[in-house]
Amino acid sequence: MRIALFGAPGSGKGTQAEILVAKHGIPQISTGDLLRAAVADGTELGKQAKAAMDAGELVSDDLVIGMIRERLEAADTANGFILDGFPRSLPQAEGLDDLLASLERPLQCVIHLQVDNEEVVQRLLARGRGDDTEDTIRNRLSVFDDQTQPLIDYYRDQGKLEAVPGQGSVDEINARIEAHLPA
Ligand code: AMP
Repeated sequence: MRIALFGAPGSGKGTQAEILVAKHGIPQISTGDLLRAAVADGTELGKQAKAAMDAGELVSDDLVIGMIRERLEAADTANGFILDGFPRSLPQAEGLDDLLASLERPLQCVIHLQVDNEEVVQRLLARGRGDDTEDTIRNRLSVFDDQTQPLIDYYRDQGKLEAVPGQGSVDEINARIEAHLPA
């Protein structure tokens, strides 16, 4: 199963990805988690990514695509993967398609978790991560609108987009997602 979870920051992608990992035994690949680990480890990549992350901007496409390429080569992705927070821009989506085409493992489905902006701000403020200040949150949402929303059309044109309302209990949302997953 090769899928991506798509949605604004705070739409519940990470929570749903964890449930899918437990149910389907395939790894979650979160570029946010990978980047935070790189920052914590003080790697060169982490140093290059930190300023953009603190500001709620996107880290450069080249950095993120390189990181994903390396991660997808790991043996634990043999039976599939759940992308969480990637791709977030058109160049990333195109880079991913090229990469997966070369591996002969195309993406099967993109789940769009739909949540209102105001709900998302409230959820993120409640979460209280280091980059969850109100200013950074607003910026992340505007970055989402400008750079990430265009992917909706990109994946709709490929016939891979599945819209899922992101409001309700965690279990309800999971059931909606499961209904769209490839066999
Ligand atoms: P997240 O945990 O997905 O909310 O990501 C936290 C931060 O990491 C984002 O605000 C970006 O600065 C950076 N980031 C995560 N994923 C990506 C991506 N696919 N492309 C660019 N930057 C990313």
